[in-house]
Amino acid sequence: MFDVREAVCRAVEAARDEIVELTAELVRIPTVNPPGEHYADCARFLGRRFAAMGLEVEYHAAEGRPEHTEARPRLNVIGARRGSGGGPTVHLNGHFDVAPAGGGWSVEPFGGLARDGRVWGRGACDMKGGLAAAVFAIEALRRAGVTLAGTVEVSGTVDEESGGQAGVAWLAEQGRLAKGRVDYAIIPEPLNVDRICTGHRGVWWFEVEARGRIAHGSMPYLGVSAIDHIGAVLEAVRTELQPELAKRTTRMPVVPAGSGRATLNVNAVAGGQAGQAVQTPCVADRALAIFDRRYLVEEKYDDVRAEVVALLERVKARVPGFEAELRDRMLVHPTETPAGSPLVSALQRGIREVLGREAAIVASPGSYDQKHFDRIGGVPHCVAYGPGVLELAHQPDEWVAIDDLVASAKVIALATLELAGAR
Ligand SMILES: [Zn+2]
Repeated sequence: MFDVREAVCRAVEAARDEIVELTAELVRIPTVNPPGEHYADCARFLGRRFAAMGLEVEYHAAEGRPEHTEARPRLNVIGARRGSGGGPTVHLNGHFDVAPAGGGWSVEPFGGLARDGRVWGRGACDMKGGLAAAVFAIEALRRAGVTLAGTVEVSGTVDEESGGQAGVAWLAEQGRLAKGRVDYAIIPEPLNVDRICTGHRGVWWFEVEARGRIAHGSMPYLGVSAIDHIGAVLEAVRTELQPELAKRTTRMPVVPAGSGRATLNVNAVAGGQAGQAVQTPCVADRALAIFDRRYLVEEKYDDVRAEVVALLERVKARVPGFEAELRDRMLVHPTETPAGSPLVSALQRGIREVLGREAAIVASPGSYDQKHFDRIGGVPHCVAYGPGVLELAHQPDEWVAIDDLVASAKVIALATLELAGAR
């Protein structure tokens, strides 16, 4: 009996060397972000591949975004194959920007070396390997002779590593990666080949600036030290707020488990005349602390913020002359794929068939482009699923296993087949 799912898997298997080669070729384009190098080269390279596969190709430059400049254009690319009609649109999205290489490498970071069953280099894991797997998931459906009712699309987008404003967020704002155009989105970020990631915690970045009064350093009692006041804030954070947060756990299956609770990281502290070449005989009249609060889907942002306002009130009540201002820097709400999403069950079935084991459902410790699909695009049926070991992202000697590239391409192809509907 002819089994279409088996035929699709065979088509992926037959493309093993091509998947490796595409991953390596993508690694060789050093799309380092910041600042966002070689984006246009990478987008055009992918666009030519999409065209060769018979996909309709669209280029989307992030017009109007300040980071989209002549020197460093923010160019996104989409390839689409229209369905025969009546089916949903399945969109596979990968960011092609990569973190800077950094030091400590034993292989050439942008060499695209394939050795020992792995492809090595910056971006091999996060996430050019996943992008290559997505491309061949779509190509395998064509090679297996499948006609789909729904449309399938694959995109390469920019700037995920710096927030995705000119990438997925911009395409969602334009209505392109949004409700009405996209029904299901799979982002092959490296969350491991047998795990489906259904969202992430919220992120609130904020800063507290304390203001004191300058005085001579030999008579500090005549001034007010802003550093002492920031010190009082940090002490209250450490002894009052952080123990409270550690008690709050989420029902979302965040990995690693340590991130399955509310957390607050003191990101930076600066005060006085630090950084100047010569020490001055002065009391610090200004000090700043920057914070990174990760909050749970069970917490409300208004409460999260009010908690910090209340902490500053308590410090003010016990520290004479305390003056501080709270300022917001960035806010990303938590996001979560709806329970019972057909997208999750389609991937679960694919993982069971390809790997012979049950998928783990996880949530990511940090945020990624799912927030833009959900919050801006109104596409809640979005997950991250792709090859690569999460902990290797942004590390030296980053790699992706070739077996995982092939397995994830099969899983994505099978899920796409199920969602878009074979005719
Ligand atoms: Zn990534």
